Amino acid sequence: MSAGTRNRILFLLVWSSSAVALAQGRLELTYLGTAGWEISDGQTVVLVDPYLTRLKSNTPNDPALASDPRPLVGDDDFVTSDQTVIDAHIRKADYILITHTHVDHVLDMPYIARKTGALVIGTESTANFARDSGVSGSRILTVRGGEDLQLRDCSIRVIPSLHGILPGSAQLPPPSTIFPANTKPPFRLGQLFVEGGTLAFLIRMAGHQIIAFGSMNYIEREIDGLRPDVALIGAMPERQKIYHYTQRLLQAIGYPPLVMPTHWDRFNVPYDVSQQPAIDRLQSFVAEVQAVSPHTQVIVPEYFTPIIVESSPAAGREKASNPADRPTP
Ligand SMILES: [Zn+2]
Repeated sequence: MSAGTRNRILFLLVWSSSAVALAQGRLELTYLGTAGWEISDGQTVVLVDPYLTRLKSNTPNDPALASDPRPLVGDDDFVTSDQTVIDAHIRKADYILITHTHVDHVLDMPYIARKTGALVIGTESTANFARDSGVSGSRILTVRGGEDLQLRDCSIRVIPSLHGILPGSAQLPPPSTIFPANTKPPFRLGQLFVEGGTLAFLIRMAGHQIIAFGSMNYIEREIDGLRPDVALIGAMPERQKIYHYTQRLLQAIGYPPLVMPTHWDRFNVPYDVSQQPAIDRLQSFVAEVQAVSPHTQVIVPEYFTPIIVESSPAAGREKASNPADRPTP
């Protein structure tokens, strides 16, 4: 090989590695509570399961809080979105990804979709609820799981998944039951106990890959071999009903550099109520991740505090800013 050829190959290697470095841009991930996230590269905004209304109702892990002054919402009560709290936090969205149609994932989607014009991506159950709630059919994309979608400025792989095993879940409709088409709002809380099947999503954006789950379960063969650099993993206690939940999941996705728990908080109280009991409850999940994958950074997200993920070409892996590491004033 001549020196000239070697130099050309070297140039190509340097050029291609710097092109990768440029493509690996900055990403912001913002926790909205429950299983809700805003993921943005500064241009495109992807929401996952945005649920900000946080109804005062009894939930599988947390009974309603007696000191919460709001009225208790029972199964037969009508439910509506808290537009004030949504407007305070959600200004723009391009895509809304819905994992399943339980109330704490889907309730606020129609209002946010109508307000932002975002494209809603979810199951037939999600599509029915959206359409019934006045979202234009042109802003709904019905998926089954298995699709790999090239969107305008990101791509999204739709992953068939499973719901966690809830206490008392025998009283809920079976997962295959879907939210009916051609019904009219308002809807009662009990109508939103329909799961309608569960999805997960692999979001590719700004050179990053984020895998997002909305419940405490997964199908191992559907995620095996994926290599996200950020994993948003359901962490409520029902994960303990799944065999080696954290270990199998992290192994399947190649021990990602950054894990953030999702669906770990007490979501039937307003945002300003202390989450300390939920944070204490979450420590067993943090310990599970650290035991299985000691090099993984675990960040417990704070509400509405963006976590910045950016590439660090020298280290060859992403660095994230942890709000907990910031000096307190
Ligand atoms: Zn659910």
